[in-house]
Amino acid sequence: MASPKVFRVALDTPLRRLFDYLPPASPPQGPVTPGMRVRVPFGRQRLIGLVVASGATSEIPRERLKPILEVLDPTPLLDSAALELLEWAAQYYHHPIGEVVAAALPKALRLGAAARESEERWELTSSGERACAEGEPRRAPRQRALLEALQQAGGWASAEALTGRLGSWREAARALTARGLIHRTERALARASAPASVHAEGPVLLPEQSAAVEAVAASLGRFGAFVLHGITGSGKTEVYLRLIEQVMARGGRSLVLVPEIGLTPQLIGRFRARFAAPIAVLHSALTDQERLAAWRDAAGGVARIVLGTRSVVFAPVPDLGLIVIDEEHDASFKQHEGGFRYSARDLAVVRARQAAVPVVLGSATPALETLQNVAAGRYTHLRLQRRTAQAQPPRLALLDLRASAVRSGIATPAVLAIGRHLEEGGQVLVFLNRRGYAPTLLCTACGWIAPCGDCDARLTVHLAARRLRCHHCGADAPLPERCPQCGFAVKPVGQGTERVAETLAELFPTVSIARLDRDVVRRRADLEAVLERMSSGETRILVGTQMVTKGHDFPNVTLVVVLNADQGLFSTDFRAPERLAQTIVQVAGRAGRGARPGEVLIQTEFPGHPLLLSLLAEGYDGFARTALEERAQAAWPPFTRLAALRDSATTAQAALTLLTEARKLASHPPRRVRLLGPVPAAMAKRAGRHHAQLLIESPERTRLHAFLDQWLPQVEQLPSARRARWVLDVDPIELF
Ligand code: ADP
Ligand code: ZN
Ligand code: ZN
Repeated sequence: MASPKVFRVALDTPLRRLFDYLPPASPPQGPVTPGMRVRVPFGRQRLIGLVVASGATSEIPRERLKPILEVLDPTPLLDSAALELLEWAAQYYHHPIGEVVAAALPKALRLGAAARESEERWELTSSGERACAEGEPRRAPRQRALLEALQQAGGWASAEALTGRLGSWREAARALTARGLIHRTERALARASAPASVHAEGPVLLPEQSAAVEAVAASLGRFGAFVLHGITGSGKTEVYLRLIEQVMARGGRSLVLVPEIGLTPQLIGRFRARFAAPIAVLHSALTDQERLAAWRDAAGGVARIVLGTRSVVFAPVPDLGLIVIDEEHDASFKQHEGGFRYSARDLAVVRARQAAVPVVLGSATPALETLQNVAAGRYTHLRLQRRTAQAQPPRLALLDLRASAVRSGIATPAVLAIGRHLEEGGQVLVFLNRRGYAPTLLCTACGWIAPCGDCDARLTVHLAARRLRCHHCGADAPLPERCPQCGFAVKPVGQGTERVAETLAELFPTVSIARLDRDVVRRRADLEAVLERMSSGETRILVGTQMVTKGHDFPNVTLVVVLNADQGLFSTDFRAPERLAQTIVQVAGRAGRGARPGEVLIQTEFPGHPLLLSLLAEGYDGFARTALEERAQAAWPPFTRLAALRDSATTAQAALTLLTEARKLASHPPRRVRLLGPVPAAMAKRAGRHHAQLLIESPERTRLHAFLDQWLPQVEQLPSARRARWVLDVDPIELF
């Protein structure tokens, strides 16, 4: 086969295309193939890019093409499967391939770090050996010392050894290299792949667990999507562990995705305790060097399990045998910042299909999209109905806020229930999705409310810190004593976790109360400390935000109080009820995990709301059925496909300009494609910028994407697109 004449390179630029380059002028040792990094000239810069394809011809005249300057990898950094996933993602999310590739690679690799751990070595050439024997070079003692050192070491030495022996030697090495007496090589350090086996046997599986393991195991070696649906504590993780064990026994490797907050030391500890095999862990808190090291372990096949948060879906895993997504409904799997807004869950399913391996989506509260995929026969539903350790499901009850006295957001029946559970030796969890002391600071004389100057939002009172803070932009100011408008005393109105904890401390003065929210937990160690005091039983009441809903095991919690269920019922975002139900089921899952049954009280002003009633009567399944019917009627996802063109600018008008022009471009959209808007976002002003969005909708995915394919390049050409900060969000999960 003739060697390719043109290489198509992905560069980290906002341009939606690949760039063609000629082969390097001085060819590297082996052939250049897709998946290798290259350094190329780009305008006045030199950029590192990734070869994605090669070909015989280019659309650009040959005389205008430039050669690759340098090939960085001796072997491909990404294999064809990984490249295929990136190309799929670039197409589906309509995002420039260069930026997609950049999002998939650790920063150190984008900057040119070696993809494999390697050792720098220096060797004598044959003329070097002769020169050394002849006592050359006589007048350069440092060069002479270097030659001798290499000769004594048997003809070569590592850079590290040379430094240890000679101190500074690089200048001498340059001079000797120029004379052809020595040369530099790079030797990949092949890390011996540690044996993989099981450290500790797991428990005997319950029948439902065995059935789930068997169903997925029967699909090893080919694609299959399985929804492992079971409440917290039903033994999902145990199912993952058994499947990973089977994959390992066949010599394969497993990829495990967990939500941001789910990647706890306990979880990693559980994997390490079970398997005597290297595990690569990738998450956002790693340093660049740590990330590189973990990526190398994954890519080199050293790791038998690759575990991590969102972006781990791009990690190379040779001989991939299984993908697991734990808490698949979790919002952190969707990238909601920056330009490349992918769903790691959806990409994981695509990757599993491309790699012909099974994928397991585990959750106590599967996303409605996922349940719809089950209903449509695309995914297999595996249920784990029973809790392990004989625990019984908690009893849920609504508590009508209008019918009882309420103190700082806690109704009297809830206070009585807390007292009763404490007396019986249980622990109590109080959930409120709002941190701080109070969401509003009000002047009762003139009606002034402390606003954020940069957002359409109120400032939250943080009483202990004596600050007013914006939870949307981070604005932070001292807490005023008096109204800046009329001088009257001001007063915090409403509840945050800080105030609820204070009230509970007054009601239960002898009981130890702790808080769990982003104000008290700034680092992972803080979280560990709070959880530890809860596990030891020292803390009796834990008041917290969303943070308390995820994955922690508190077997002695017998009562959960949800302080306000109503925020989720009447939101402009069609997904808010789904999130509310998931939260309630997840916090409810904290109750009664031990031998004692749990009780869950949900405070609401709307005890007759159909979604709450279906949740209570039939649990999450009933809720999901009702909610899916509503979605079908309103033609929302998953019964339609959405993309949002979002824009922000310094004025409300400017934010709408691009979107209005973009809409005009599509004044006659194709059949079954609709454009909705543009409209200012529900919270239009955030951090000093005004946000607006244009929705594009179609009941058919292919039509939506065909439309985007032809429309987006035109949008990009609009003069206003250059001035605006816009982004296309395919399958948006938040509409605001
Ligand atoms: P989930 O992932 O659904 O929350 P886990 O797999 O973590 O559930 O299981 C909850 C608890 O029950 C864990 O402590 C686990 O070790 C234990 N467990 C799981 N399966 C079994 C089983 N078959 N027999 C006994 N204990 C089990
Ligand atoms: Zn006032
Ligand atoms: Zn703000």
